[in-house]
Amino acid sequence: MTIGVLALQGDAREHTAALADLGEGSRPVRTPGDLDGLSGLVLPGGESTTLSMLLESSGLFDPLSGALRAGLPAFGTCAGMILLASTVLDGRSDQRRFGMIDLTVRRNGYGRQAASFEKELSVSGFDSPVPAVFIRAPVVETVGPDVDVLACLDGARPVLCRQGRVLVSAFHPELTSDRRLHRMFVAMTKTEC
Ligand code: GLN
Repeated sequence: MTIGVLALQGDAREHTAALADLGEGSRPVRTPGDLDGLSGLVLPGGESTTLSMLLESSGLFDPLSGALRAGLPAFGTCAGMILLASTVLDGRSDQRRFGMIDLTVRRNGYGRQAASFEKELSVSGFDSPVPAVFIRAPVVETVGPDVDVLACLDGARPVLCRQGRVLVSAFHPELTSDRRLHRMFVAMTKTEC
């Protein structure tokens, strides 16, 4: 069993490197056949509108949706979070999403002034802060009752959330050298929910 990294667009390479740092082999996912035998899937940052179109044109959207619904663990960062959310605001009208975590997210919701920034985040269960890079990140506007919020920005906005086998971050853990969130996801791929 190996972890897949959705590699249609965005920073798949950085996630592959992060997993390799943990001794985890991974495989790029570009076609429906690449989904076979995966233990989990990372959906990277990039542009959710473009990813949505490429998921359609590659024929991946529906089989991937089925795999997620059947319990495939997923880790979505930034655009990946948008793709996994149940409701997307300020998206393209034809933009698709998997609806695997009960969140309303607003694309580019931190606005132009603060389109990109870095913060230290206190994460539930971690004994020291996690460095977090935000790049035109989505704002989480509402959180459903089954979602665990693991970190908030400035004590207010949820930025790291989990529901069952789905983990999402509004920021980019793959762009720092802190591997604790990838380690958390790898553990999720190895345990029954
Ligand atoms: N703003 C992008 C989107 O809407 C996400 C940016 C990112 O992944 N860094 O998809």
